[in-house]
Amino acid sequence: MKKDELSVKKIENGTVVDHIPAGNSPVVHRILGLSDSKNPVLTAMNVHSKKMGKKDIIKIEERFLEKDELDKLSFISEMITINIIKDCKVDEKLTVSLPRMLLNVVKCPNPKCITNFERMDTRFSPEKKVFRCNYCEKGFEKSEFSL
Ligand SMILES: [Zn+2]
Repeated sequence: MKKDELSVKKIENGTVVDHIPAGNSPVVHRILGLSDSKNPVLTAMNVHSKKMGKKDIIKIEERFLEKDELDKLSFISEMITINIIKDCKVDEKLTVSLPRMLLNVVKCPNPKCITNFERMDTRFSPEKKVFRCNYCEKGFEKSEFSL
């Protein structure tokens, strides 16, 4: 067994979010709404990784996430990988890719944007170099968002 696998106990059925850049598991929790999860969520931070040096891993028992939900994680990193576990075995390996619209992933950096005053969804459309807010229509580079 690899070191990585020892750090978090195996799950029988569910979703493993792997190769999360170290320290970013709280962002994944927030984006996927894991703090309200009915199912057990196991999180390991700063796990040794050959590919990344250090990484975080999250295992969600008995929950299979939809592709559009998982694709939101691409905003954190497109290195993130997903393993769907069934009967203790990897049933499917998925990668995440940027969706056509980011729904409720990040807050609008424009302090005057209505989404910062009202309780409402945030929507950003990825363009060539920026992510454009669907409300104030301003475009922002990735580095301008706080995760
Ligand atoms: Zn905005």
